[in-house]
Amino acid sequence: MRSEVPQSALKKALLLEEGWISLSQGVELAPLERATAGPDAGLRSLFVEFDGYRVRLAVEESPFSLVRRSDGFAVELSGTTFLEKVAVQTPPHHVPNQLFINLSTPCAFDCKFCATPKLGIGFVLKPQKVARIVEEALERYRIDAIALTCSVLGSERESVKLLSQVVKLLRREFGHSIPIGVEPYVTKPEYVDELYSVGADEIKINVETFDRWIFQAVCPHKSYERILAALEHAATVFGKNRVCSNVLIGLGESDYTTLSGLRKLAEMGVVANLRPLRIPLVREEELRAATGGRAHRPSAARILGLALKYKEVLNRHGLRTYRFKTMCFRCTGCEIVPQQDV
Ligand code: SF4
Ligand code: SF4
Repeated sequence: MRSEVPQSALKKALLLEEGWISLSQGVELAPLERATAGPDAGLRSLFVEFDGYRVRLAVEESPFSLVRRSDGFAVELSGTTFLEKVAVQTPPHHVPNQLFINLSTPCAFDCKFCATPKLGIGFVLKPQKVARIVEEALERYRIDAIALTCSVLGSERESVKLLSQVVKLLRREFGHSIPIGVEPYVTKPEYVDELYSVGADEIKINVETFDRWIFQAVCPHKSYERILAALEHAATVFGKNRVCSNVLIGLGESDYTTLSGLRKLAEMGVVANLRPLRIPLVREEELRAATGGRAHRPSAARILGLALKYKEVLNRHGLRTYRFKTMCFRCTGCEIVPQQDV
């Protein structure tokens, strides 16, 4: 590993490679939130913080365990100390100091890495309900940002309409002092414009992978070209360091393909979240079949190596992950974030 990598970043990468943590006897925490969106849907998770780093781990059987010590929490790896004096966060709304709300779960699409449509719980939050959640959270917690995600309801239009209605209502009730990020599936430039015009500050449109063969296999209902076109348009509307996109690492793609795609996004002014793949149990067979058995959680070395190379790309294009005010670059829990972790 290159010498510029701090020990703490290496430890975060090792925790990300594993993705799970178990709770030792005697560890009592506030109720853990169960995610409803993406590959983590259905899992209970917590955040471990150390040396300025934050990592989100799902709670399950794991060689890493959270233990209670007289001076706080520590993380052990197979019984020996891995991290001392860690802080543990169990935020009620998905992310520390941020209100990240999933507006809906029924989905017309069938992305092979996503557990949301398989959750067995179907809900669609009405704008008024979201406003009450926000009101209550603002009264009770320190909230620096709001993030809104949703499934694809009957159509792209339907989901964008719901997101727009929610953003509009939140702006009307709570003003413009709190940043709002939105994460829609969107391919039409006019929908991007609409979300911006109602008051969204940042947007995430997920490309998922730059490997076209894998994209077709794992996102059978999505259009790769139209996602890229929407991202390019969004960068001109929302501006620099306000448009991002999830890129999954571990679907069987090569680093070469990934870095070429990342350069292309950077030229557009779009910043990517390099997200280690988690294979949901409910999708395991489908995902392995769709990727020809190549889907796997990436190693710590690969996670770090890509983050370091991507940092150079971002620096070259004047893009800054730390300028984002909402969503994953604000949180940093699920990946090694260039310019923040390394
Ligand atoms: S569009 Fe794909 S990733 Fe999004 S909720 Fe539906 S199945 Fe999941
Ligand atoms: S990095 Fe993104 S997906 Fe992960 S916990 Fe934070 S906000 Fe959620």
